[in-house]
Amino acid sequence: MAPAVALLVAAGRGERLGSGAPYGDGARPKAFVTLAGKPMLQWSVDALTAVAEIERIVVALPAGEQAPAGTIGVPGGAVRSASVRAALAAAGDDCERVIVHDAARPLAPPDLFERVLHELDAGEGCDAAIAAAPVTDTVKQVADDGRTVLRTLDRSTLWAVQTPQAFRRAALERALDVDEQLLAAATDDAWLIERAGGRVRVVPAGADNLKVTTPLDLSVAERLLAR
Ligand code: C5P
Repeated sequence: MAPAVALLVAAGRGERLGSGAPYGDGARPKAFVTLAGKPMLQWSVDALTAVAEIERIVVALPAGEQAPAGTIGVPGGAVRSASVRAALAAAGDDCERVIVHDAARPLAPPDLFERVLHELDAGEGCDAAIAAAPVTDTVKQVADDGRTVLRTLDRSTLWAVQTPQAFRRAALERALDVDEQLLAAATDDAWLIERAGGRVRVVPAGADNLKVTTPLDLSVAERLLAR
């Protein structure tokens, strides 16, 4: 298998998590909060390190934080996709496949990284392969007033998107070559590929690959990782 490079984005402040207390870390950024005995981002570094195809890991860091041992650290950007762009610029140019992963998803197992890489290779003309789970809630579109239901979406076709996301490097570079406004509007990099006409495929992933956003998520992740 050709090698791949992993970009781990960890530069968010994690304001929705609160200050980090009562989890013992005071005002540390989210990815550096202690979770089941180690910093949150270390769970992803350890899972990525277990994947033979991944040649190196570049971490986008918040100001004042050190890169974990065995990784390359770069200063993150003002928005998530700017952090991805900064990490990609430091990734070296020898890997044709790139995996992007949020440090805020510490439960992603090594085999999920492998499966997105393999889907990227298996899908004809595929530019990106992204972890996602079928939506289980009914989803409604609500008007700007925040109350009035406009319509109910067809749940059978909806998937909730996660990371990891694997990309053809050239496609990701092209997709990220946009102005700051578009970069700020991107909640995932695959959207930037889609809007540029690229082909994106989903890879079924478990709902347990949860994203730590709130204190509730943190306590659920803690329990799942401590099993
Ligand atoms: O803010 P959100 O939870 O969507 O962030 C998802 C991931 O992107 C987190 O791992 C966070 O650290 C990272 N991020 C980043 N640079 C930013 C904002 C978020 O690396 N400027």
